[in-house]
Amino acid sequence: MRPPSVDALARDIADVGLPHPLLVDAARRAIAAGAPESARALAEGVARSLLQPVVNATGVLLHTNLGRAPVAVSADARYSNLEFDLATGRRGSRGGGAAALLARAAGAEDALVVNNCAAAVLLVLAALAVDRAVVVSRGELVEIGGGFRVPEVMAQSDARLVEVGTTNRTRRADYAVAVAADDPALLLKVHQSNYRIVGFTEAVGVRALSELGVPVVADVGSGLLDAATPWLSSGPPAWVAEEPAVRQTLADGAALVTFSGDKLLGGPQAGVIAGRADLVARCARHPLARALRPGGLVLGALQSTALAYLRRDGDAIPFWRMAALPVPVLRARAHALASGAGDRVSVVDCESVPGGGTVPGLVIPSAGVAVDGDHSGSLRAFDPPVIVRVHDGRTILDLRTVEPADDAVLAKALASVS
Ligand SMILES: *Cc1c(COP(=O)(O)O)cnc(C)c1O
Repeated sequence: MRPPSVDALARDIADVGLPHPLLVDAARRAIAAGAPESARALAEGVARSLLQPVVNATGVLLHTNLGRAPVAVSADARYSNLEFDLATGRRGSRGGGAAALLARAAGAEDALVVNNCAAAVLLVLAALAVDRAVVVSRGELVEIGGGFRVPEVMAQSDARLVEVGTTNRTRRADYAVAVAADDPALLLKVHQSNYRIVGFTEAVGVRALSELGVPVVADVGSGLLDAATPWLSSGPPAWVAEEPAVRQTLADGAALVTFSGDKLLGGPQAGVIAGRADLVARCARHPLARALRPGGLVLGALQSTALAYLRRDGDAIPFWRMAALPVPVLRARAHALASGAGDRVSVVDCESVPGGGTVPGLVIPSAGVAVDGDHSGSLRAFDPPVIVRVHDGRTILDLRTVEPADDAVLAKALASVS
């Protein structure tokens, strides 16, 4: 029998909904493999690999694989005043809105927004420390994940790394010796983020470092804006206690703070440089700033996030709304879900985690439902995909990270597997 023509086969699977050239690719691959009947599955695989919404039932609030903080982005095809000053009718600055609002919310003189925190650190070093020494404790030469390694970022920026102290202990005197010997441009303090050294340890805080007469840059990473969390009516949750906060780090004397937009800030992927206006201006003037600047969609989403902070409206920031949900509310939703789903689905207490390389080892009590067996594959294949954890032979759906409107999706997804 002659194999079907590529074009006929592609037209046969048109209902998969992909553009014709992609159906042709799938058909060609299937025929080349001698299995024309596999064309549909290949095309469906391509459709499934497209960027799409998923239901996060893992309980990991900032899931790096699922885009970290959930965020609303307005995508109307409209012009905006991205670089236009409506008051004067002249060219305006792209940085203005979101950056100025974040600076206001964090108690910083000024701020600059770039694509992510790695870019923020790179730009700070390139703009302020090229061919100069930057002093870092050996306990803070960390890898955050996804290739962000402090010594390698330093090498890319042409700043000269001066390591002080040891892995577990670094004292103020260690920094003072380097300040005297190396005439550093900056002292860099990097939050260890995703790991901790415990036991016989010592580190120097920002306040003590700022007394050494060299600008201190604190890469706090997670972007907790204020340790007092005034945007939460319930006050600071226990798990934030260990995280350095932007406002307090600046008040302690940091000249600049760098942080991510999509970790504890709860906004879109972005990086923020906040602090002394003269130093922020030098970063903004560096040629790399143009290469690292974000687009209007990101700045719009970040502006909404900053406005929510200024209104002290944590409910308007999905990450904080989810993080602050009381367990009884989650348990009530779990009961509603389980009661409609038959014997195999039961209500469980479980533990969510902030995630995103923040507060390692700390958990947030939560509730959800469990089904015996590992159903992660079928739930992932559901439309929309439902992402879950499997623990001790049971599939756990943690409701803290699920939008209440998606409980109906979970009910259908569970019915399909149990
Ligand atoms: C997460 C993190 C980064 C990297 O942030 P991205 O926004 O992912 O680039 C850098 N430094 C610290 C301390 C971090 O925690």
